[in-house]
Amino acid sequence: MKEIILCKLGEIVLKGLNRKSFEQKLLSNLRHSLYSLGNYRVWCSQSTVYIEPGDDEADMDAAFEAAKKVFGVIKLSRAAACEKDKDAITELAKSYLRDELMRVKTFKVETKRSDKRFPLTSIELSQYVGGELAEAFPHLRAEMHEPELVIHLEVRDVAAYVHASPESGAGGMPVGSNGVAVSLLSGGIDSPVSSFMIAKRGVRLVPVHFFSFPYTSEAAKEKVIELARLLTPYCGKMPLLVVPFTHIQEEIRDKCPEEYFTLIMRRFMMRIAERIAEAQGAKAIVTGENLGQVASQTMEAMASTQAVISLPVLQPLIGMDKEEIVRLARRIGTFETSILPYEDCCTVFTPRHPKTHPKVEEVARVESAMDIDALVDEAVAGVERIMVGR
Ligand code: ATP
Ligand code: MG
Repeated sequence: MKEIILCKLGEIVLKGLNRKSFEQKLLSNLRHSLYSLGNYRVWCSQSTVYIEPGDDEADMDAAFEAAKKVFGVIKLSRAAACEKDKDAITELAKSYLRDELMRVKTFKVETKRSDKRFPLTSIELSQYVGGELAEAFPHLRAEMHEPELVIHLEVRDVAAYVHASPESGAGGMPVGSNGVAVSLLSGGIDSPVSSFMIAKRGVRLVPVHFFSFPYTSEAAKEKVIELARLLTPYCGKMPLLVVPFTHIQEEIRDKCPEEYFTLIMRRFMMRIAERIAEAQGAKAIVTGENLGQVASQTMEAMASTQAVISLPVLQPLIGMDKEEIVRLARRIGTFETSILPYEDCCTVFTPRHPKTHPKVEEVARVESAMDIDALVDEAVAGVERIMVGR
């Protein structure tokens, strides 16, 4: 018996003229995520992507798990294929779905027939196979409204497929179909989640981390590399850019009033992120900011942070509760790494009484004690590039 994976496409199907290029992106992302798992054939026909083992070594369990993380797929099922013949389909349903059929008491059969030359209509095939199954498994009762098991039959161009129990895919749009953004990745709980959410909208990410060695340790950097790596099943391979931030933080400490430390530090992050964005062709900056969570996340503080750049700042977590963010972090698998106890540059030189309602002009005035352009140039020149993912 030949087993394959059928993936149903999400919003791609709505995209009209762009649909072909969306499909191509999705196919290439799927091929990429399956690449190290074995040999697979991946193709698209009639709004469904097929993943077929290329040889006996191909691990279909691993492929299924990997495909569940690829944005652009809303539903996936493992399916078995056979020739387009009503009795072959019946026999396949009996053997392939035997365990499921034994577990339930009620079922129904639903057929999709995109090969219109097939001699039975969808309803006729459902009735035929349903009748045969009820006879072969006498404990089963057909139930149209709320059956425990729905058996799907699909009669398509090259073969017929039998499947049941579809699982949810990652949803969203294929990464790369919606441009590029720089994503500020700290070692915290929030920014891996904000990165995930923007990648889900089809955006390819360039993660950027500000690193204040020796105030923050090598271990803290390793943690961020690991967080970026944990995101790659969703986001694909990414270049993590590590920006040396120590000199800037020391300058701020030496030349600015303490209550402004965090605000000014965040303005530097934005300027540097925008410079990197320009070089990378990125059109937005993503952060894990969340309204009111900390002193630098009041509306006035965010206005002062964003005043120094012109690119849009995407803050997908802005209105979420911490609990919701944590739930998502657990689901995508970054939470356990995020809570490892390493310091972040934000906790270096933290003011005892940070300004929560700063005036933009006031922040600009106090930071003018530094040579801002030279510091930004120096940081950008020192960026280290670490490729994460396969
Ligand atoms: P997180 O949990 O993502 O660290 P946070 O709640 O600790 O967020 P802040 O420390 O104010 O909040 O940081 C807000 C956002 O700024 C982060 O979500 C992240 O996008 C960015 N950021 C903070 N520190 C760094 C850093 N060292 N490198 C890169 N980005 C950072
Ligand atoms: Mg943080």
